[in-house]
Amino acid sequence: LKPVPSDIEISRSCVPKPMDRLAREVGLMLDELELYGKTKAKVQLSVINRLQAQPDGKYVVVTGITPTPLGEGKSTTTIGLVQALGAHMKLNVFACVRQPSQGPTFGIKGGAAGGGYSQVIPMEEFNLHLTGDIHAITAANNLVAAAIDARMFHEATQTDKALYNRLVPVSGEGRMSLHWSLYSVTWNRVLDTNDRFLRKITIGQSPTEKGHSREAQFSITVASEIMAVLALTSSLEDMRQRLAKMVVATSRSGQPITTEDLGVSGALTVLMRDAIKPNLMQTLEGTPVFVHAGPFANIAHGNSSILADKIALKLVGPEGFVVTEAGFGADIGMEKFFNIKCRYSGLRPHVVVLVATVRALKMHGGGPTVTAGMPLPKEYVEENLELLEKGCSNMRKQVENARHFGVPVVVAVNAFKTDTESELDLICSLAKAAGAFDAVRCSHWAEGGAGAVALGRAVQRASEAPSNFKFLYDVELPIADKIRIIAQKIYGADDIELLPDAKHKVELYTKQGFGNLPICMAKTHLSLSHEADKKGVPTGFVLPIRDIRASVGAGFLYPLVGTMPTIPGLPTRPCFHDIDLDPETEQVNGLF
Ligand code: ADP
Repeated sequence: LKPVPSDIEISRSCVPKPMDRLAREVGLMLDELELYGKTKAKVQLSVINRLQAQPDGKYVVVTGITPTPLGEGKSTTTIGLVQALGAHMKLNVFACVRQPSQGPTFGIKGGAAGGGYSQVIPMEEFNLHLTGDIHAITAANNLVAAAIDARMFHEATQTDKALYNRLVPVSGEGRMSLHWSLYSVTWNRVLDTNDRFLRKITIGQSPTEKGHSREAQFSITVASEIMAVLALTSSLEDMRQRLAKMVVATSRSGQPITTEDLGVSGALTVLMRDAIKPNLMQTLEGTPVFVHAGPFANIAHGNSSILADKIALKLVGPEGFVVTEAGFGADIGMEKFFNIKCRYSGLRPHVVVLVATVRALKMHGGGPTVTAGMPLPKEYVEENLELLEKGCSNMRKQVENARHFGVPVVVAVNAFKTDTESELDLICSLAKAAGAFDAVRCSHWAEGGAGAVALGRAVQRASEAPSNFKFLYDVELPIADKIRIIAQKIYGADDIELLPDAKHKVELYTKQGFGNLPICMAKTHLSLSHEADKKGVPTGFVLPIRDIRASVGAGFLYPLVGTMPTIPGLPTRPCFHDIDLDPETEQVNGLF
């Protein structure tokens, strides 16, 4: 159809195939499926054991150039590519994508099901609630928060310590009288709404709390460490252990206090027992998709779950393809995909697909900023090879970043209708000159899988090329050295500067035995540097590390480069203004 209708119109025009048929097509037994309505099902983890002897399929990660407000289309390309490989090239495929937070769905960005004729359907199911995993995380996270404050309250107000000790048995020597310093509580409450007024609050103001009030914070649910645990866990047993290891506070004597110390980790596992199972959905062209986990891409690692990837790799078999998406640009999502996710999963990727667009590269070349709701400046809708060539420096650097890991890179040029032939050709030739295995233009947004067959063929060829995967750093290196390697090799920094809080944390975490965790940089995604307005390939900068935090249960340290808001706000005209339900048809209107 031309012109391309809106995402929701396209999504709604397609009737999803019944889940039992989809399950049979992908090799699942019906008793491995737990239906949630007619278009979603959870898949039991027992599939991994049943298919133990089956060799894994080819593993492809989709990433992008440094994001701009113009959008690059990574999710759209992930879905377009599996539609091409599955529906057109007749290979076994699976897409593995993140579950979006409701914050952006009702805020600025809208949904994340892809776009045009490359989408996960039904879009309203995908973007809202799904099967309740995010709600389970909210419940689990806030149980920990309640446990912390109740525990501090009872300790402080309990006069008969001996009785208290009998009532609340706690593991760990000397942990009974925790004497927690209030400022050392690091666990936040969460909710899945862009409610900026909860960024800093005072809790405990009712007289029943006897003056035990303190300043506290909310984050958005997807920023909870429990979301990162869900994404990185490999089994129920492993999840139980990770949920027990989460550090929620430090005692006055400098000891880390964990969820296990609070006696809450068993209950957390119970709350999360369904969330651990990946959610099966489908694309517009009927190919299978796992939607599972959606950790923040800055303070966490921004990748969908290891379990979904593992099950999908077994299901597609050795000739099939699993395409998984990493959030933000290659300097962030892809670097964390390799150094954190692949380190924990043991999986080795065959191909990196790097998504680029003419308009985003022009912005990296010095194109003007854009204002939401205003027409795009002419630089972005008329041919401008000079600006484009300048901006291709960012693509070159991100290709180089992928090549640091020894995996072949295919550049996917996601074409917009205003792009010219010469512009699309220029990106392809510069990408190949930068060392990409191949570079192809694609039109899956306008044409569905048929528009990404050339990309599918390039990915298939690249998956047969020699891959020499290696991590960027050894986790046993000192914390500062690991951060420096990422800053210099991936961001192009001259050096790093550890500010006083960060220096203190390096000492603390090393002493506490967390020094050998991988690093999860919390840096702006809008620049290779720490300054969001520095486009292209910034040089001559020293990366300041303001502080370092630990997600011990998830299994990484996250250095903070600048301030990282962990709960977005709502704009003047949020997306929810347009969202409504038609009571007659029960259709959701206004999502995009
Ligand atoms: P990302 O995953 O990089 O954030 P998405 O795939 O979610 O980007 O796409 C962002 C938005 O851009 C979506 O609304 C999508 O429909 C739109 N989009 C993507 N590719 C194209 C294209 N080639 N032409 C027009 N719109 C596109």
